[in-house]
Amino acid sequence: MKIGPSSSVDLKRYSAHPDDLEVLYGLPKQVLFCKKCNMSNQQPMSSNEYAHSNQSRKVTMQFDDAGVCHACNFNNLKESGEIDWDDREKELIELCNQYRKTDGSYDCIVGGSGGKDSAMQSHLLKYKYGMNPLTVTWSPHLYTDIGWKNFQQWLHVGGFDNFLYTPNGKTHRLLTRNATINLLHPFQPFILGQKTFVAKMAAQFNIPLIFYGEMPGEYGEQISHKTSSYAGKDQNAESEGFALDYVSKMDFRDIYLGGKQMGAYLDEGVPKVDLMSYLPLDPEILHKKGIDFKYLGYYKKWVPQEAYYYAVEHTGFEANPVRTEGTYSKYNSLDDKVDGFFYYTRWIKFGVGRAMMDSAQEIRNHHITREEGLALINRYEGEYPARYETEFLDYINMTRDEFFETCDKFRSPHLWEVVDGEWRLRHSPN
Ligand SMILES: [Zn+2]
Repeated sequence: MKIGPSSSVDLKRYSAHPDDLEVLYGLPKQVLFCKKCNMSNQQPMSSNEYAHSNQSRKVTMQFDDAGVCHACNFNNLKESGEIDWDDREKELIELCNQYRKTDGSYDCIVGGSGGKDSAMQSHLLKYKYGMNPLTVTWSPHLYTDIGWKNFQQWLHVGGFDNFLYTPNGKTHRLLTRNATINLLHPFQPFILGQKTFVAKMAAQFNIPLIFYGEMPGEYGEQISHKTSSYAGKDQNAESEGFALDYVSKMDFRDIYLGGKQMGAYLDEGVPKVDLMSYLPLDPEILHKKGIDFKYLGYYKKWVPQEAYYYAVEHTGFEANPVRTEGTYSKYNSLDDKVDGFFYYTRWIKFGVGRAMMDSAQEIRNHHITREEGLALINRYEGEYPARYETEFLDYINMTRDEFFETCDKFRSPHLWEVVDGEWRLRHSPN
């Protein structure tokens, strides 16, 4: 599908001398691609989303002097012998022994959708390590058929108790629309809700241990491979996006949701109760209840493709019968009709799309070569997610033209140019 600039675009910004091109979001001016996995140095790292406005600046993936990204270097550590995986499993068994309950109550909690990662995580904990997990799910915006099926299979074939939480749909649509207009980030409200929901449920049911999946270093966050936990109340997080204490220093009205301040929503008549699902739990409550956070990926070597095979075998997980648009894979983030637009909008803002992310991960885990990754990027990167376009645009109450015009406001001139009336990225890995 050929996509050209909207009539409101100032084309001069995109045809300036290379030295004078504007750079948005504080991205690195010079575009580099990892020598090993093809990942771009424009890839942003997690930040405090409650302070995320249209003025925010990004911290991006670090590259070493040899031109290799931090995610590659982190993944190398997993296999360099520096981590003794047998020792790590012993640590996990000790942790489980410390927390396991036999009185019929839950001793740990796993958040997820029934996708391959949450399925493997919960199944290992319950059926290999004898824990008693509660699983909890923050609902997708719009379930896909395959997503709903895998969610049900997880519980019925895998065998788990689960709470599914669906936030007020009217509010969620409003926040998603605002997040698209203000940040070109239609997934932000989902991410905020999902991130905080697990901790709230742990506090609600007095469950002392929260398990997350892979370690954030896997995808390039600056977090040591020796870190098994989220930063607690009294620690500084190694990476801004992985702190617990997000908002206690902020005035309630100043907190941003969808790039707009809470105070503005309240003034427009959105009830406070409808916004609370998106705010984090007071870290003091977690501290008082002694709730601990662990990455299962710290204890078990995390390979996404193995999680897929595990989930197929143990929880009845099924890959999508059709290829996911924008990439070649059939088993990653399948459950939400908005997923495709999350990846598409990242590609617009940072020049990092879904094929690049999927292939980089598979190169790091030795499933494909760097050259195969390049071919996949050439073929699929930036493909428009047309399959669920109608539902997505209806959800955010926009026409296609309005959506494309919004996208154009977020194209950084140092990344994009117009060639023969069509948007093209200036740089691609080769
Ligand atoms: Zn890399």
